[in-house]
Amino acid sequence: MSDLRSDVIILGAGLVGCALAVALAQGGVTSILVDPADPAAIRDAGFDGRASAISSASWRMFGATGVATRFAGHANPIARIEVGDGGARGLLAFQPDLEKDGPLGLMVENRHLRLGLREAAEAADGVTLLMPAAPAAIERDAHGVTVTLADGRTLRAALLIGAEGRRSPTRERAGIPVARWEYRHRAIIGMLDHEAAHGDVAHELFYPAGPFALLPMAGGRRSALVWTVAEADAPAMLSLTPRAFLAEAEKRMGGMLGHLSLAAPLSSYPLGFHHAGRIVDQRLALVGDAAHGVHPIAGQGLNLGFRDAAALAEVLVDGVRLGLDPGDAQLLARYGRWRSLDTFLVALATDGFTRLFGIPGRAAHRVRSLGLGVVERVEPLKAFFMAEARGESGELPKLLRGEAL
Ligand SMILES: Cc1cc2nc3c(=O)[nH]c(=O)nc-3n(C[C@H](O)[C@H](O)[C@H](O)COP(=O)(O)OP(=O)(O)OC[C@H]3O[C@@H](n4cnc5c(N)ncnc54)[C@H](O)[C@@H]3O)c2cc1C
Repeated sequence: MSDLRSDVIILGAGLVGCALAVALAQGGVTSILVDPADPAAIRDAGFDGRASAISSASWRMFGATGVATRFAGHANPIARIEVGDGGARGLLAFQPDLEKDGPLGLMVENRHLRLGLREAAEAADGVTLLMPAAPAAIERDAHGVTVTLADGRTLRAALLIGAEGRRSPTRERAGIPVARWEYRHRAIIGMLDHEAAHGDVAHELFYPAGPFALLPMAGGRRSALVWTVAEADAPAMLSLTPRAFLAEAEKRMGGMLGHLSLAAPLSSYPLGFHHAGRIVDQRLALVGDAAHGVHPIAGQGLNLGFRDAAALAEVLVDGVRLGLDPGDAQLLARYGRWRSLDTFLVALATDGFTRLFGIPGRAAHRVRSLGLGVVERVEPLKAFFMAEARGESGELPKLLRGEAL
């Protein structure tokens, strides 16, 4: 069996793994991208029914790496976010100056993102995509990395990157500790067609059982639903007839978008938190959900992964231009320092937010209303939250500033 060589091996051709391979290729760093999933499965409508809120900083990275055009036609801007608690609407609204600052982010269905990023990786010079291909053995030592695939092929590189999602076998094998807890909540995901136009507005409505979010999708009369329910209630919710389910959804929405219908089958995801104790090891770096996973309440999980990809690509490209080995311990330490604090702070804030907004009862409702009211009135606080939504806090990697590597 033949040997393949490259600067890095990326395990996981998900959204973050592909975005990283494309960014590295732009800076002349070669990669082999390995994923055991069937590449054809991505085209099934039911493969990943989710949609993601892409922050404007992540979108700038898509522009700088030339992939934005692959799914721009499927993107819808988020021009305003309205927040309510239970029946109380309009407690807080985030509305940027669109002319000056652009939208808060863009909504895109995951299947369009997956296909666009995968095709961009496949087309990039210096990326070898092996899919389906399963890693059977991995060796890392002071001199390099060797991955033996189940079909016997051997891959060699200077650095291994784990981008295999929340259950990352590479992270486990490296013995990296993970802080992890479950929220005992499930996100019910659906796509709703509605009579009234959404006007590019996203709604976050907080109910004691969990948040209910509607996110504006392309076409003007379709919104992505992310409805968080207690784990124990999810089977009953999912077994409702479409009519009964939509009646429940309409109750939460108070008729604001008119008559509803389901545009795609419902699906559900367990919700938890995890954070790796470190994101680098000897000739190893972790990115995306392999490194951290947060509640989707603030739409930050994937954006954190794109920030990892942008930061790691910048560190490696700079290092290789200086003549360093991509697995150099000092380069990896720089990536570790750059990303650890940012991901930890976002994880902490999202977890606190999830708990505060999940507490039932009138007293908790009053505290939340007070907090939302304060943010509504204090302009610097509002500006801070808008910067977070845009993914513009902290030290931004070049790609997230829209600059090429
Ligand atoms: C309900 C819900 C809604 C969300 N909404 C948002 C949102 O609006 N905005 C946002 O920013 N984030 C959101 N997120 C989070 C986001 O979906 C994840 O952060 C993101 O999918 C992580 O991408 P990833 O590439 O790291 O991992 P994944 O997408 O999990 O990809 C991992 C890849 O690794 C492959 N793999 C697995 N094992 C191996 C192996 N042994 N070797 C090689 N490859 C392997 C898999 O086949 C897969 O292709 C949401 C999450 C949930 C649950």
